[in-house]
Amino acid sequence: MISALTRFLFIVCLAFIAAFITLANLGDKWAIGIGILILSIPLVYSYINLARLRKYVLNDSVEKMPLPSGFWEEVFFRLQRLVRNLKQKIRTIEQQHDHFIEAFQASPNGIVMLDEGDHIEWCNSIAERFFGLSFKRDVMQRINFLIRRPEFIQYLQKRNFDDPLLLERMGPDSSLSLMLQAFPFGRNRHLVLIQDVTDLQKADAMRRDFVANVSHEMRTPITVLMGFLETVQSLDLKKEQQDQYFEMMMSQAQRMKSLVEDLLMLANLEANSLPATNATVKMETLMALLKNDAQALSQGKHALNFNTNSSMNLLGDEREVLSAFGNLVSNAIRYTPDIGSINIAWNVNADGQGEFSVTDTGPGIAAEHLPRLTERFYRIDRSRSRDTGGTGLGLAIVKHIANRHQAQLVIESTPGRGSKFTLRFPKERVSA
Ligand code: ADP
Repeated sequence: MISALTRFLFIVCLAFIAAFITLANLGDKWAIGIGILILSIPLVYSYINLARLRKYVLNDSVEKMPLPSGFWEEVFFRLQRLVRNLKQKIRTIEQQHDHFIEAFQASPNGIVMLDEGDHIEWCNSIAERFFGLSFKRDVMQRINFLIRRPEFIQYLQKRNFDDPLLLERMGPDSSLSLMLQAFPFGRNRHLVLIQDVTDLQKADAMRRDFVANVSHEMRTPITVLMGFLETVQSLDLKKEQQDQYFEMMMSQAQRMKSLVEDLLMLANLEANSLPATNATVKMETLMALLKNDAQALSQGKHALNFNTNSSMNLLGDEREVLSAFGNLVSNAIRYTPDIGSINIAWNVNADGQGEFSVTDTGPGIAAEHLPRLTERFYRIDRSRSRDTGGTGLGLAIVKHIANRHQAQLVIESTPGRGSKFTLRFPKERVSA
């Protein structure tokens, strides 16, 4: 400021001195002219610089403007610095904004931002997919015009967002369950978070079904057992009759025991997420054990064939492998009518994979049941399963054990002709 004033005073003095000298030599008209000429120098200089500034401002390129010398140099320099700083700040804010948007987009949850009137200010692509929205098309539309579910409209109207809202049959193919909750922020705005809880809902429904199934399975033998106990208690029975009742009670107690054992086995398998151990399971010993159990169960009613083309062993958990193989053999025996034949084989195929298979000449299984056979308590013939001591959990256990050994359970069956259950182990689980 001081330097600008000094310059101005210098020019004024210069104009006076020049005018005074001219007055003395050339007369007063020349003196006024020379004075005005000298005084107009800063005006012309300022005008030229203002015109340049205007040009650069209009082109939005103030930062590129060459700096003039003198009084305007400082003004231009500071202006350029101000513009540069402001642009830098805007860039930083834009970057932060982009990061927020990217973070919201990366969220596995749907996010919708609503203004005071519940108009959509922004939503991420997950929310677009959940509700069939399009941000470009629907921006600033009222959300209740786009999501027309009555329970959602009520939720918005109530303005009480303490609890989440569950919306079922949502999404492009109406297969999603969505949990939605609005959170107030800023001035009467709302952030709506939407979570896909389809899997949780399914797991919850499965848990409820499971508890109902277990209760049902337990209630039947308990009721029968209590009936027998009352009979034995209240009637004066002969020794043989009493023995007959005790035998029937024993079979019901056995049924409950099998169910509890299978439930415990399943619970243990489900609790253990690690792959099965790599201990050597000697197949020769295992096949001998299976043979003993199979003969005891079949009681000579079936033709049992045990084949093995390999002396290779299996790497895994012996208890689990025995349980899986035992379940397949026991199913074949229980479902194959008397005089049928059952083939039990352990082979190593050309790719080095270990294959344990059980082939029977039983009733076979219709194709529509095959995908569901490994579900807990899924049975085709309920009474046959119960009559033969089945719990409905055998194949679910086999499937779990197969997974823990990276094995594949393959079921092939022709109704009326028989079934073949194969457990195919990867070659890494086969050892000499
Ligand atoms: P269960 O204890 O009832 O045998 P599983 O889980 O072992 O339960 O088997 C599920 C269902 O699959 C059985 O109820 C039965 O209907 C069918 N199944 C299993 N193995 C055979 C087989 N070898 N032949 C025919 N049906 C079978």
